Amino acid sequence: MENVAGKVVVITGASSGLGAETARHLVKAGAKVALGARRLDRLEALAHELGSENCTVFKVDVIEREQVKTFVDHAVKSFGRIDVMINNAGVMPLGPLELLRFDEWDQCIDVNVKGVLWGIAAALPYFKAQKSGQFIHVASVAGHKVGIGSAIYSASKYSVRVISEGLRQEVKPYNIRTTVLSPGAVDTELPASVKAEGVSEGVAQFYKATAIPASSFARCVLFAMSQPEDVDINEILFRPTKQEL
Ligand code: NDP
Repeated sequence: MENVAGKVVVITGASSGLGAETARHLVKAGAKVALGARRLDRLEALAHELGSENCTVFKVDVIEREQVKTFVDHAVKSFGRIDVMINNAGVMPLGPLELLRFDEWDQCIDVNVKGVLWGIAAALPYFKAQKSGQFIHVASVAGHKVGIGSAIYSASKYSVRVISEGLRQEVKPYNIRTTVLSPGAVDTELPASVKAEGVSEGVAQFYKATAIPASSFARCVLFAMSQPEDVDINEILFRPTKQEL
């Protein structure tokens, strides 16, 4: 795998699912990873698995701008630079608007949209100064279409795509790459963030019947990263072969 070994990759939402599996693939390919999330015990267990010389862990709530900045600064102090910022942390509190689950609306926008903005804000000064870097953002099939119960989640993921495209255009002078990955159903802990009664059961069943392994996502990350520096993979949309929606 070219252009991956030796890179320093910061991953938010690395305590489970797509983030954790991507960290495994990256370390196998010779990268160094900075793992961030709220569940420090999970991050420490992953670091133990991957070898402490390849990882650093940091407890971060991506809702908090200063914490995300401190996380990225910590990664740079640990490894001397940052090459890739994977803004991956996210929640999926699906449910119809009429349920008025205001706390979930707040959480979805705060984590999925503002969390990405804080990640951009934290890494961009380093990327600008070194005139290189890559943002990898996680949207979703739900960032390409909206359905009943997905209005807020889809709004957050459409936003990730819009922010990423604006960023892509703005950072041309600094030689920065910008990638959006939009997965369909992938087998992670994400369905557990659906709490609305009468919705969570259906989502869990859909994932059980449809979801593909998290390695599908990790391979996309490595594909986008491993291109020559003058090739910018901007969007990848992928689904389980049997997923209709
Ligand atoms: P998981 O629930 O397994 O992982 C979510 C990660 O986000 C966890 O590591 C969690 O860590 C972290 N996280 C959640 N809230 C916060 C917060 N406030 N601060 C810091 N970290 C937080 O789900 P996935 O791996 O599937 O999700 C990763 C991304 O992929 C999300 O953006 C999701 O929307 C997206 N996605 C997933 C799909 C799927 O089918 N799995 C499909 C399309 C998109 P902790 O709780 O320890 O803080």
